Amino acid sequence: MTWDEVLTATAPSGHDLRPLLDLLFAQAQDTWPLWRAGHDALHAVKVKAISDRGHRVLVQTNPGRSRSVHAAVDPASIAARPCFLCPENFPPGECGLAWRDLALLPNPHPIVERHLTIPSRAHEPQALAGRTGDLVQLARDLGEGMAVIYNGPRCGASAPDHFHFQACAATAPALELLPHDPPVPGMLPFSSFGRHFLALFDAEPAALAARIAAAFAAWGRIRPGAGEPLGNVLVRWQAGHGTALCFPRRAHRPAAFFAHSARRIAVSPAALEMAGILVVTDAESFERLDARAARTIYEDVSPTPQEFAAFLEQLL
Ligand SMILES: [Zn+2]
Repeated sequence: MTWDEVLTATAPSGHDLRPLLDLLFAQAQDTWPLWRAGHDALHAVKVKAISDRGHRVLVQTNPGRSRSVHAAVDPASIAARPCFLCPENFPPGECGLAWRDLALLPNPHPIVERHLTIPSRAHEPQALAGRTGDLVQLARDLGEGMAVIYNGPRCGASAPDHFHFQACAATAPALELLPHDPPVPGMLPFSSFGRHFLALFDAEPAALAARIAAAFAAWGRIRPGAGEPLGNVLVRWQAGHGTALCFPRRAHRPAAFFAHSARRIAVSPAALEMAGILVVTDAESFERLDARAARTIYEDVSPTPQEFAAFLEQLL
């Protein structure tokens, strides 16, 4: 396929996209068999809630996510496979909307309702630099009830060679931790289930975009290394202001991912996992994932308390 064949309309930046999005999902339902099957499968996924010290996360067994959970993201594996975010490799029926230089595509393997994959229309590497403005504006355009996600190339993006956001219904448990009346502009740190993350609040889109970039830069000073600092971001626009959950990361996959079969839990945390929806693809991982295992998984991939304190200090 080509982008001209895939994209049925242009979604104008700066406008409420909800009516167009409703039409897009209706079109996918009518004309894209793979999406319809994936969406039906979402209603059949097994979900359990686990609690730790008054906080909860969800565990979901979702076989459709196998490609993402088990994705080989080393450069040799990436170079050897056809890019699934380039239109020449799309399945029949794929449809979408143009938005700026990106494409809003219904995700045929959803984790939550209204899951979109949002690639660049050019094959270019996953990088947040120069993209935080798009991230915030898209969250604003998609409207209340939706969230836009960025996964870094070394911590959750299964196509590190092709830039993409995702978006979905804003239902993750981490959002339940936010106060009803947050400081705007302002920021709040959270520690829950062994995770340490930061919520940024701002009513000015450009200011929020700049603060997300500053948070990544600050994390890069705490854990310097080659390439983009490891992290995930989830942005929601609601009640006249934007909220960005920033998850600084130490590692892509937890020790449990690499454990021997009897102890293995196949989970590859990206933004939705960090926000409290842990996705596994097999029944054994689902059974093993209790509160203690979840805490260990989050501790493996999140900053240490000392690193997180130093990170916050950078932003004051
Ligand atoms: Zn590509």
